[in-house]
Amino acid sequence: MSIPDPPLALLAELTHRCPLQCPYCSNPVELERAASELDTTAWCRVLDEAAALSVLQVHFSGGEPTVRRDLERLVEHAAQLGLYTNLITSGVLVDARRMDALAAAGLDHVQLSFQDSDDINADRIAAYRDGHAKKRAVAGLVRAAGLPLTINAVVHRQNLDRLEAIIDMAVELGAARLEVAHVQYYGWALRNRAALMPTRAQLERATELVLAARARLKGVLTIDYVVPDYYAQRPKACMGGWGRQFLNISPAGKVLPCHAAESISGLVFEKVGERPLAEIWADSEAFRRFRGTDWMPEPCRGCDRREIDWGGCRCQAFALTGQAEAVDPACGLSPDHAALLGIAASESAREAPDFVYRRIGGASARKPEPVEPA
Ligand code: SF4
Ligand code: SF4
Repeated sequence: MSIPDPPLALLAELTHRCPLQCPYCSNPVELERAASELDTTAWCRVLDEAAALSVLQVHFSGGEPTVRRDLERLVEHAAQLGLYTNLITSGVLVDARRMDALAAAGLDHVQLSFQDSDDINADRIAAYRDGHAKKRAVAGLVRAAGLPLTINAVVHRQNLDRLEAIIDMAVELGAARLEVAHVQYYGWALRNRAALMPTRAQLERATELVLAARARLKGVLTIDYVVPDYYAQRPKACMGGWGRQFLNISPAGKVLPCHAAESISGLVFEKVGERPLAEIWADSEAFRRFRGTDWMPEPCRGCDRREIDWGGCRCQAFALTGQAEAVDPACGLSPDHAALLGIAASESAREAPDFVYRRIGGASARKPEPVEPA
């Protein structure tokens, strides 16, 4: 067996619990319940094994990671191991005491998600009353704790026309970085595709706006821009290539090449504790299945981009063609690309249907009233 380079980063999905219900949530449609979550000892062992594997960064994510009362303990453990620690949070459960405790535990960075710049629409998208106002306050707490702040804004047809205001908001809140991420359509977002798909005109306006803002805000705000696959000509290097740079641990301890990998049926994922993380990374069947280029069909196999995009996204190929080894339909060389463009054009032209909100125990097909945290 050839030994792959170690992963750069670990995404630690501590829980799938979250008081918000975003219809584009990247968690799987079958969400894991609290009873199946790894406990503190098991997560500390995962962090030990990740550090031994030469992982450099750990991203504490979810669901909403701050529902875990042991988050400070896990941050502290990661920091003691020399790992760079990032918290990916919706912020709505964080108060000043919690933020200060996380900073004291050694947290290096916070990535705070926003649904919109408009409070009413933001709370409607998240199905969470007063969430937007809470997030704005939490941005201040992050800065007061002396931590760098990245704002993450997932954009789609129902907020894209306010992108300029979202950029202004990021500056106003003191973020050093803004990630403008068009929805990627698998899991919950695939269910809500027609409600989220922007028109090509919306996309083109947004791209122009980002380019202009990048020039205007040089030295003030760095803007990352993730474009939507459905309008692309070539796919992105999803996760930097399958099993090349990232590994993801699910709340129940499954070791995955990406957070959506469980959507591919027929792949078996090993769990932490069954054998050392380094062995799973190097040798598990699921990681080896699409690592490198040997698995590729034509035209990827003979393509000069095969070690640039690594064939795009396997989850998207499976979701759209039923075959995980198919050419990513986001690629203009895929036989399924024209169908993808047709879907984008027709769904974005129709009136948006109601959201199917994300929730544990089954999707909600109606529009719920905004809810308070449990
Ligand atoms: S995308 Fe929304 S629902 Fe999903 S974990 Fe993040 S805040 Fe919660
Ligand atoms: S043919 Fe394959 S390797 Fe070439 S650009 Fe398309 S997806 Fe990438």
